[in-house]
Amino acid sequence: MTTINEQRLVQHFLDLVRIDSESGNEKAIASTLAEQLGELGFDVQRLPVAEELSNGFNLYARLEGTEEQILLSCHMDTVTPGNGIEPVIEQGIIRSAGDTILGGDDKSGIAAIMEAVRILKEQGLPHPTIELAFTVFEEGGLHGSKNFDMSPIQSKQAIVLDSGGPIGTIITVAPGQQNIKATITGKPAHAGLAPETGINALTVAADAITKMKLSRIDEETTANIGVVKGGNATNIVMPELYLEAEARSLDDGKLAAQTQHMVETLESVAAEHGAKVAIETKRAYNAYRIADDHPLITGIKQGFEAIGVSPQTRPTGGGSDANIFNEKGLTTVNLSTGMAKVHTTEEEIAVADLVAISQFLVAYLSR
Ligand code: ZN
Ligand code: CA
Repeated sequence: MTTINEQRLVQHFLDLVRIDSESGNEKAIASTLAEQLGELGFDVQRLPVAEELSNGFNLYARLEGTEEQILLSCHMDTVTPGNGIEPVIEQGIIRSAGDTILGGDDKSGIAAIMEAVRILKEQGLPHPTIELAFTVFEEGGLHGSKNFDMSPIQSKQAIVLDSGGPIGTIITVAPGQQNIKATITGKPAHAGLAPETGINALTVAADAITKMKLSRIDEETTANIGVVKGGNATNIVMPELYLEAEARSLDDGKLAAQTQHMVETLESVAAEHGAKVAIETKRAYNAYRIADDHPLITGIKQGFEAIGVSPQTRPTGGGSDANIFNEKGLTTVNLSTGMAKVHTTEEEIAVADLVAISQFLVAYLSR
């Protein structure tokens, strides 16, 4: 098995997490990576995105190899609190000093890819043509991948490195998500003088929610109401209420049915109460499902087996850039880098996992 330069890998990872890059503020990390990839021999393209999205840019990079091609992808942004990250290594585990996230989500993937390429080059190992897509603003919307200019990309298959779980985890199934925004309009009235002449929007919402299937719908489908806003004073019958909900499913038909159920329940209950409801629903992203015998999966499995790790395909409940790249026509899976407790100030990653995912990439790319 190829020996990874652990010290160089860890140092690069620590350098990357020290660069502030909360979603929207990717200029510094994108510029640094563009420069480093250029030095590594990649042809780098800075792909502009709308100013509202990021002060930085999406990154596309290409390293010529054999006729085969593969796209590797990570996101460059982090959740909050992600500024001033001070990484600490204790007994082989990398964490933040405690008041921020670590940013291993998703810089562990970036560091692993770049270390693997360094090894391939140093050892003169044959490799396919490697394309990279490093995205801005993945967290909270998958915006960077949605707005990624796909025109330079020639690969038909892609690997996103942006998941947790044991090394060897291959996410082959991920849900689609539908967002629902509803405004219920009742009728204001003086709460003391004539409450019976009003229609309380909260009462309408409560009745609708009681009649709605929510939480875990079945093994493939979930639904949640996450935002509710309404009311100004106790002496006014609440005239208006706004809510945001979502539904997810691994099955597009079930997602459509759950969404319709939520919309129809809101509409029929509002009508029963003499209230009005305005509903907007929008597909955030589509589900994907890659068969276990797809050549992309069998190749990845061989890569893990070559480093003595048993690969596991499994579904997830979360969305990632892999959903978007699948939608855009690339067969894409999402692999674990070993990142854990992401989106919390306890986020961590084991040095051994960072090494293992880099080793996997060397094995996979040079197989
Ligand atoms: Zn991530
Ligand atoms: Ca994340």
